[in-house]
Amino acid sequence: MEAKYVVFYLSERGKSLAEKLKALLKEIKIFRLDTELISRNWQKDKILIFICACGIVVRKIASFIREKEEDPGVLVINETGNYVIPILGGHRVKANEIAQKIADFFSAQAIITTASDSLSLIPLDLWIKEKGFLIKNPHLLPGIMALFNQKGTLKLYKEKAIKIPLFKGAYEVEKIEEAEIVITNRRIGKPKKQLILIPKNLWLGIGFHENIKETYLEEAIKKVLEESELEEGALKGIATLDKKATHPVLLSFCASKNLKLVSFSKEELEKVKALTPSKRVCEAVGVESVSEQAVLLASKGTLLVPKRIFPDLTIAVAEEDYQVKGKLYVVGTGPGDINYLTLKALQVLREVEVIVGYRTYIKLLEPLFYNKEVYSFSMTEEIERAKKAIAEALIGKKVALISGGDPGIYGMAGLVLEILAFNKVSIDVEVIPGISALNACSALIGAPLMNDFAVISLSDRLTPWNEIEKRLELFAQLDIPLVVYNPKSQKRVNQFLRAWEILKSFRSPDTVVAVVVSATRESQKIYLTTLKELKEDWIDMHSTLIVGSSQSFFFGKWFITSRGYKKKYSENEFLLNL
Ligand code: SAH
Repeated sequence: MEAKYVVFYLSERGKSLAEKLKALLKEIKIFRLDTELISRNWQKDKILIFICACGIVVRKIASFIREKEEDPGVLVINETGNYVIPILGGHRVKANEIAQKIADFFSAQAIITTASDSLSLIPLDLWIKEKGFLIKNPHLLPGIMALFNQKGTLKLYKEKAIKIPLFKGAYEVEKIEEAEIVITNRRIGKPKKQLILIPKNLWLGIGFHENIKETYLEEAIKKVLEESELEEGALKGIATLDKKATHPVLLSFCASKNLKLVSFSKEELEKVKALTPSKRVCEAVGVESVSEQAVLLASKGTLLVPKRIFPDLTIAVAEEDYQVKGKLYVVGTGPGDINYLTLKALQVLREVEVIVGYRTYIKLLEPLFYNKEVYSFSMTEEIERAKKAIAEALIGKKVALISGGDPGIYGMAGLVLEILAFNKVSIDVEVIPGISALNACSALIGAPLMNDFAVISLSDRLTPWNEIEKRLELFAQLDIPLVVYNPKSQKRVNQFLRAWEILKSFRSPDTVVAVVVSATRESQKIYLTTLKELKEDWIDMHSTLIVGSSQSFFFGKWFITSRGYKKKYSENEFLLNL
């Protein structure tokens, strides 16, 4: 298999850095810097990574550089691995994104110099690619991008059938002449300044006689599109009667133009009303008008060109609504400190267009969201948050709904999926796990959860208190550590007092207890105590309690729950030879 990433090093130090990249990037090959190998790998879909000084790289690659569209991505990592600098292909082959990924991996800094990224605007070229548009006049793209960077806004005209959300900074105008970007499947000549984006949303419906020739079909389609001033590049597919769908001329035409081919039975076509029914066609194949009915079924849209009749061939054209699929990520953001965000979460947060979340969590990660649409809500508005995130994904945006800790533990993942299930709506959802309070808190105090343990939340906002009390009584009787989420809030104090009582009635008053407040945040506090010495006023709504079992004990600042090694093996085996 051809490697996508080709890494060149100069020194042994560079080589060991290159070896580490194997864990991050698949399809990777590593070589000592060599001009012949650079030349051989100078291909537009590759990413060449150089681990040496920028100057060396610039001199080595200078003679190979040709066109933006043809050159590979090039990035440089300095030998100590603290800077990652994309040089070529920042957007086209996502060298900027890959540089950021490598930088995150090495805890290094990515130096992104492309204008849109440093100005906190979306990279227009990437947006166009992601939304699947064809650029009719690509030579205007750099100028339009420069204009966008300069003004921070762009005027955009789009046809009604284009149902995609616009990017931040785009303003829709009514008149085509006023626009700087036009999204259309119509031919509008060759404007000198407007960037024309073509959506693939035209369908052809065709009915034809068996003895048709490919050149004849091609000419006729060209003629229809030309006369109705429609872009050939906007063609998405062809629709016809099922009996005709295996005709070699049609198959070969669709393959050569990369068009979808769909077909319908006579019965399916009959259900659609044709505008221009034909008696002859009806007699021959049994439906009124194959081309119109098929194209309406395939496009589920509007007829643009009613049936055109050629000898042995009919063609109709319709346009479908142009939509892109959105995606909803439910992202766990960990206990608070940005360093406890996973690499995956960081990548997703960088990639999405929209961020939805609880105000406090958004504040904690604010520097990451400078070029996004951000919707922040108060704590109790979980349903509104989930609905907003779903609504934005439904109109085709990439959305991150952020959720503190892990989204699957008293977090937003369940609510989002429940709402989707209740409404029987399916959208692309991905849940990105996060470090939950129980992971963060237990790490801070050592190893309290080494064996089985239980988790309970004292919040009775969604679970009735008598249920919580029942669970508490049962858990308290099990001799295993118990993690207590949501122990207390300003208004909810009695619940904690009652829980404390229950725990004391079943466990020894000397049972070890940890109270961890605001783990990993600036206001972090840790109290190691016992059930009888616990103080209620240590605890607030950002605290997690860990109540030990009979196997739990303190050693200095550590809370340890024995897993049983000492019981299984002899004490001698535990002895250090000091
Ligand atoms: N999904 C979150 C939990 C949300 S419930 C997670 O997986 O961690 C909110 C409760 O989580 C708080 O009342 C507190 O008990 C706990 N919690 C969240 N962040 C915390 C932190 N940084 N330190 C201590 N406890 C925390």
